[in-house]
Amino acid sequence: MSDKRLRYGFTPQEQRISALPSTIMGILILIFIVSSGIGTWRSDNTDLVLLMEIGTIGTIYLIAFNFFFIPSSTLESVLGLINAIASVTGLCLLTYALPAEADIYLGVLFITLIITSALISGRRASYALLFFTLLFTTMIRQDYFAAVSDFAVRIGIAVIAAVVIETILRLRKQSRDHIHRLEIIADFSRAITSSLETKQVINLLSAAFRNSIEADAFFVGMREGNEMRLELLYDDGEFYENQRVKLEGSLSGWVLDNQKSLFLPDLRKEVHLSHVRLALAGRHKNSLSWMGVPMRGQNVDGLIAISSYHPNAFDHADLELLTVLAQHAAQTIDNTYHHAQVEYQSRIDSLTNVFNHGYFLKLLESQIETAGKEREPLSVIMLDIDYFKQYNDTYGHLAGDEILRNLCNIIKGHLKRTDAVGRWGGEEFVISLPGANGVQAQQVAERVRASMLKLCVQNHEQIAIPVPTISQGIAVYPLEADKTMRLIDLADKRLYVAKERGRNQIEPEESYWEKNLQVE
Ligand code: GH3
Ligand code: MG
Ligand code: MG
Repeated sequence: MSDKRLRYGFTPQEQRISALPSTIMGILILIFIVSSGIGTWRSDNTDLVLLMEIGTIGTIYLIAFNFFFIPSSTLESVLGLINAIASVTGLCLLTYALPAEADIYLGVLFITLIITSALISGRRASYALLFFTLLFTTMIRQDYFAAVSDFAVRIGIAVIAAVVIETILRLRKQSRDHIHRLEIIADFSRAITSSLETKQVINLLSAAFRNSIEADAFFVGMREGNEMRLELLYDDGEFYENQRVKLEGSLSGWVLDNQKSLFLPDLRKEVHLSHVRLALAGRHKNSLSWMGVPMRGQNVDGLIAISSYHPNAFDHADLELLTVLAQHAAQTIDNTYHHAQVEYQSRIDSLTNVFNHGYFLKLLESQIETAGKEREPLSVIMLDIDYFKQYNDTYGHLAGDEILRNLCNIIKGHLKRTDAVGRWGGEEFVISLPGANGVQAQQVAERVRASMLKLCVQNHEQIAIPVPTISQGIAVYPLEADKTMRLIDLADKRLYVAKERGRNQIEPEESYWEKNLQVE
């Protein structure tokens, strides 16, 4: 709607085409009136030259108006004004030049000009045309004004003209609103295709509501058990967050349970729905119109609803718009769930639920970059299960898998929210500890080692089996290595030192940090 070429909601070309029938009829009636004036209705004082001039200029004007003025003028108000002045002038000159018996035909010409005006210039110019034509032509026909029948004809024509103007304006408004709704849907669909988050979709829905429907309140709710979580609640100019409402007995509950739209144009009338009483959310003010549509997808069970404090605020076109928006939104929210799931899976090792090699490495690089900027240390621990091949051979691969899962749970249990653990490969894991120095990393490694010693597992026959030990190597950024791969390499080398020393150990030993690297 921001296009400057759009006048009165339509393009000039659309206006020209809609005004074409009334223009052609206008030309034909004008030619008929002028030729009849020259022939049949001529009186002694009829000015033939004037009549011919009005006929010629009027026809040229009507053609030029439709084919040239409407398409080329960018100013709706100027166009309407020119047309009103030209029409009033033409009609007055014809009234002046012709006897009273021509009036009924002038009335028909007047109605066609009113139609054109209502189509292209709106209410103000059309009523100006109506008012001034009636005023001036009545003044010209002063001698007939006394006659009641003539006055009645004029009033009749005025009423018809007003009805024509109002009907055309309403039809135009309906069609403009319809175009606007389609634009809202198109804009919304375009915007949500790139949305990867539910929050984004909800915000776009909110914008679409505000642009298209005159509601005092609207909300987007998702079913959560017996309650509904309101993702968005707008009421009387304010947004509310994190609201929850009970579904039982509510209009929303009815929509969710029946998976059907509900349109209640006037809530002053009794609501005949089984198990429903009217509940309120947001501002505790009574809504008098309510409309809700289900929003259903594979991973979505919700609804969108709008309400107003006035009765009969919405119509079926609003319901249709809401339904389409809900369908699009549900589909997109489904896609966002799917995307989030795929994204999660692409980062996670499916057996142990820790980050996989590729994602961990990326994450570690960004953690190191942040640590560098903030001049903070970052420790990594390289961890490997001792004699795991043998363990698998003795207790079976499934028991080995169980150990891997348990080990990862133990590690995660000892980490802070900002720490991370990744599966480097096989039974080898890396832990990153942003902000931790060597001593702190040593403490984490020791806790993990001790927890492994305490772990109890059973085989598939519910018989307790031993748990393998782990060896760990620690390295600290930026003190010992300033590049990601060098840091990992150093931790890996130290892991093998721990293995060499006899396994179930941490390298370097605790005293190393105290002696050498307390400068951190
Ligand atoms: P070391 O103490 O020197 O580390 O001895 P190790 O036997 O652990 O070392 P090695 O690298 O020779 O063996 C690693 C074993 O880890 C081989 C493989 O059977 C086992 N492994 C690797 N990935 C998995 C897995 O996903 N599940 C199970 N159950 N075992 C795995
Ligand atoms: Mg091993
Ligand atoms: Mg290994």
